[in-house]
Amino acid sequence: MKKHNFSAGPCILPQEVMQKAASAVIELDDIGLSLIEISHRSKEFVDIMEEARSLALELLGLQGKGYQALFLHGGASMEFLMVAYNYLEKKAGYINTGTWSDKAIKEARLFGEVVEVASSKDKNYNFIPKGYKIPGDLDYLHMTSNNTIYGTQFKEIPKTDRPLICDMSSDIFSRQLDFSQFDLIYAGAQKNMGPAGVTLVVVREDTLGKVSRKIPSMMDYQVHIEKDSMFNTPPVFPVYTSLLTLQWLKELGGIPAIEEVNEKKAQLLYSEIDLNPLFKGFAAKEDRSNMNATFTLSDEKLKDTFDSMWKEAGINGLNGHRSVGGYRASMYNALSLESVGVLVDIMSDLERKG
Ligand SMILES: *Cc1c(COP(=O)(O)O)cnc(C)c1O
Repeated sequence: MKKHNFSAGPCILPQEVMQKAASAVIELDDIGLSLIEISHRSKEFVDIMEEARSLALELLGLQGKGYQALFLHGGASMEFLMVAYNYLEKKAGYINTGTWSDKAIKEARLFGEVVEVASSKDKNYNFIPKGYKIPGDLDYLHMTSNNTIYGTQFKEIPKTDRPLICDMSSDIFSRQLDFSQFDLIYAGAQKNMGPAGVTLVVVREDTLGKVSRKIPSMMDYQVHIEKDSMFNTPPVFPVYTSLLTLQWLKELGGIPAIEEVNEKKAQLLYSEIDLNPLFKGFAAKEDRSNMNATFTLSDEKLKDTFDSMWKEAGINGLNGHRSVGGYRASMYNALSLESVGVLVDIMSDLERKG
């Protein structure tokens, strides 16, 4: 039986996407060849890349607004340095909301001055900072929209007239936002889009080319744009699988449709966490993520019982990250409301037994 997969990443993808991706590895669209044995310069693959790039922009509402979508190698972690390579001349601002922001800051410091505009580190990142001042002389402001490890999510996007850059790895395509308030968005595929191995970068073209340093070709967004995201051999399988997920999302009704489901899932789980005395939420209520819910047991003695209950029910991937402990339920786009229902039933069963 297929498990209820709450894994934080790599994570669940729509079942039909996995089936189509698997069959394309054997044979792509009746062409007598596998997806992974054809040239990336073949018409078949060029069409796949172009559709993926344009569908990403379409779903985000950014088509015709001066943006380019790229599918690059190296994960979100590569973007930590690529962003600084391409944008950091003197001084950048970062909002530090967790491990991933912290890693991005560390990379950027290799390129120039970095100021932490705000941080939630003093409370183990269990909230999103508010009411801070954004300096006016930044080359850019960097934020992490959803903090996968801690289960916090920006509900309001900071306002700045400086270029705004966002690591959206774990909540891209999950909720409606005015995406044009960002100048660059990046997201590792393996949370809401596809298998690991490719990163989506969406960049407003006129923000590029403003630093004086020499940029190695592979690190240069402008090179990748000029080469239509094919400067070197792209990761063909993750790109194709991402395209299938984007098509699945479009058919469903796009971001507005999936957001509705995501809200229902989050409400169902958070209301159980709040009503059930055996559980405690980790993140500040107003900053709770709709993608990753973090919680702990109020009595550690119940751990073995609870763990065996959810495992028996076919749930996978519920253990919390080591820096928070407890549990983390990741409810990405492809996870069904029914799977969340299974988890919530177990939580209330535990209360009845307990
Ligand atoms: C998973 C994750 C990353 C790291 O992605 P890689 O592709 O492994 O480099 C970075 N940022 C956020 C918010 C993440 O959730």
